[in-house]
Amino acid sequence: MEQSEIEKLKRMNAFKSDVISISAHELRTSLSALKWILKMLSDGDLGALSSEQNNLIIKAYTSNERMIGLVNEMLSVNHADDTAELKYILEPVDLSELINDVIFDFTGESYKKGVGIIFLKPTAGEHIPMVRGDRDKLRVVLQNLLENAIKYSSQGDKVFLSLGIENDTVTLSVKDTGIGIQESEQSRIFEKFFRADNAKKKENVGSGLGLYTSKKIIEGHGGRIWFDLEKNGGTTFHISLSKA
Ligand code: ADP
Repeated sequence: MEQSEIEKLKRMNAFKSDVISISAHELRTSLSALKWILKMLSDGDLGALSSEQNNLIIKAYTSNERMIGLVNEMLSVNHADDTAELKYILEPVDLSELINDVIFDFTGESYKKGVGIIFLKPTAGEHIPMVRGDRDKLRVVLQNLLENAIKYSSQGDKVFLSLGIENDTVTLSVKDTGIGIQESEQSRIFEKFFRADNAKKKENVGSGLGLYTSKKIIEGHGGRIWFDLEKNGGTTFHISLSKA
C-alpha cells in the first residue's frame, strides 16, 4: 500500500474514533438525565405508582444502567490517533440557551452529589450576542466542562456558569470550588487519556477524553479554551468564541 493511502486510512480511522468519543459522551449525558427521571418516578417523588408501573420503571432503570456501562466501555476502549478533522455545521448559537439546556441534563447528577449549579445570568441591560458555532458540538464541550466541575467537587460545593463579552468574542466560564489541578500536572490536562493524580483518587471513573475532545472542538471553531486556578481552591474553565 502506498504511503498516501496509509495516511488516508489513518485519518479516516482517527475521524471515526473522534465521532465515537463525542457520540458516546453525549449518549452518556442523555442516559444520565434519563436515569434521574426514572429514579424520581420509582422513588414516588412524582406520585404513587401501582406495583405494575413500578416494576416497569425498575426494568427501564436497570436497562438504562446497562447502557451507561456500555457507553463507558466504549469510551474507554476507543483509542485513536488524532490526525483527522471533524466537520462543523456553523450557525448562530445562543450560549445562554445552551447553558440552560445542559444544566437541565445535569440536574439529577448535581442533586445526587449535593453540588449546586448556578447560572449567573447576564443582567437585563447586558445583551450577550450569539456566537458562530456548531451547536451540537458546543453542547458536548459544555457537557464535559460541567460534568467535570460537578465530578471534581464535593457535597455543598457550588458551580457557577457565566458569560462575558470582550471585543469580538464571547467567553463562557465554568467555575468550581473543587479539587483544583496541581502545578506539575497543569500542562498535561488537555492531553488525550491524561488524568491527574488527585482526580483519579477522587473519582476512579473517567476517560481523560473530555478535555482533549473539547479542545479539539473549540480549536476547530477557531476559538480558545483555557483554565485558571482559584486562590481558595477550585478551577475555572473558559471557552471563547467569535460573535456570529
Ligand atoms: P476525565 O474523564 O478524567 O474527567 P477529562 O479529559 O474531562 O477526563 O479531564 C482530564 C483531567 O483534567 C481530569 O482527569 C482531571 O485531572 C482534570 N480536570 C478536568 N476538569 C477538572 C476540574 N473541574 N477540576 C479539577 N481537575 C479537572
